[in-house]
Amino acid sequence: MPRSFDAIVIGAGISGAAAAYELAEGRRVLMLEAESRPGYHSTGRSAALYTPNYGNAVVRALILAGRPFLDRPPAGFTDQPMTKPRGAITIAGPADDAIFEERLALSGPGHEIHEISPDEAVRRVPILRREVVARALYETDIEDMDVARIHQGFLTGFRHRGGELVCDARADRIERRPDGWEIRAGDVVATAPVLVNAAGAWADEVATLAGLPPVGLVPKRRTAILVDLPPGADPASWPALDDCSNEHYFRPDSGTRLMVSPADETPSPPCDAQPDEMDVAYLVDWLERTTTLQVRRLPHQWAGLRSFVADHSPVVGPDPLAPGFYWLAGQGGYGIMLASPLARGLKGLIDADALPADLIEQGATAAALAPRRPGLASAS
Ligand SMILES: Cc1cc2nc3c(=O)[nH]c(=O)nc-3n(C[C@H](O)[C@H](O)[C@H](O)COP(=O)(O)OP(=O)(O)OC[C@H]3O[C@@H](n4cnc5c(N)ncnc54)[C@H](O)[C@@H]3O)c2cc1C
Repeated sequence: MPRSFDAIVIGAGISGAAAAYELAEGRRVLMLEAESRPGYHSTGRSAALYTPNYGNAVVRALILAGRPFLDRPPAGFTDQPMTKPRGAITIAGPADDAIFEERLALSGPGHEIHEISPDEAVRRVPILRREVVARALYETDIEDMDVARIHQGFLTGFRHRGGELVCDARADRIERRPDGWEIRAGDVVATAPVLVNAAGAWADEVATLAGLPPVGLVPKRRTAILVDLPPGADPASWPALDDCSNEHYFRPDSGTRLMVSPADETPSPPCDAQPDEMDVAYLVDWLERTTTLQVRRLPHQWAGLRSFVADHSPVVGPDPLAPGFYWLAGQGGYGIMLASPLARGLKGLIDADALPADLIEQGATAAALAPRRPGLASAS
């Protein structure tokens, strides 16, 4: 006998957890996770940076709409700050003037960017080789995000609101019924009028299970490594650093390690992403050419998937082809920053067929997020 709920959320990464948290206020919600723990895929593998100057205009509007939640979360959500100031330096070589000016022009209220001298860049990041820096800029409003804390806040709040999470439960059959959806995930069989597809890189596969066309999601692999810093290095106050063409970046990790990424975007099927040996080798070479570090061992390396649709905006809202089927996908490289505003946006669309006023005030529109909007690769 299927168990009946008001809403079922597929996927317990940060997107699904945030949506389940929002929907559980006043609803009976079941969240299904294929893995044995939530956050095993993209959410547990992110670079954890808050970067308000990132992404297209839709993404930036949503990032701004999400700021109040990070600064002032609901009572009981967490007892520690979820973000910490970091700042970021972008370095440019002699041939990068045009792109450097473009980056500088992104400066605005709430996300200030200004030029600093190459010497100042080296003073702030002492491992940087002076000779690789022709120009540098400093971005104040970049912050570290505590991803585990934010994710945990959603999961705990969801539980407190009476929500039920089942792990090791991969949804593998989805059937449309006259009154909603019946979902089978291993031993679990459940029904609900509302189904939220928050399956990350697998969101198109989940749609296909439900008999719907994909939205053209392309998961892209991104690699990261940790490297040890030399004894005596004190990176706590260093900013993050990237190069002007956005091909590499690093940021201090906890203790005396640096997290470094080649900012790769290699298309991949949905999977348990693993780092590619050559990507790591090129990354180490870049790091040794750009800094004074000599990489002798890699204490940790990993890869994760960032999933995009054609226009690089998230896909959030009702699927007009199937009543009660809601998308929460395509968060790309912004899913941690966007978890709260997108979950609130989704709830607004489910409850009242409209985004909340604060998202609209920042410039977000339901049309720009709509699953079958024109321009998506497989839109129909
Ligand atoms: C290297 C890297 C760096 C990043 N840096 C940043 C950053 O600095 N800032 C930022 O904001 N974002 C960043 N991101 C992006 C961010 O991590 C993602 O956008 C976000 O984690 C996506 O969350 P999600 O919940 O949609 O996906 P996921 O965390 O992948 O969760 C989806 C879940 O759905 C489950 N699932 C799939 N199919 C099924 C099924 N059939 N049944 C049940 N469960 C299913 C999966 O097991 C998975 O746990 C980065 C990503 C990577 C990889």
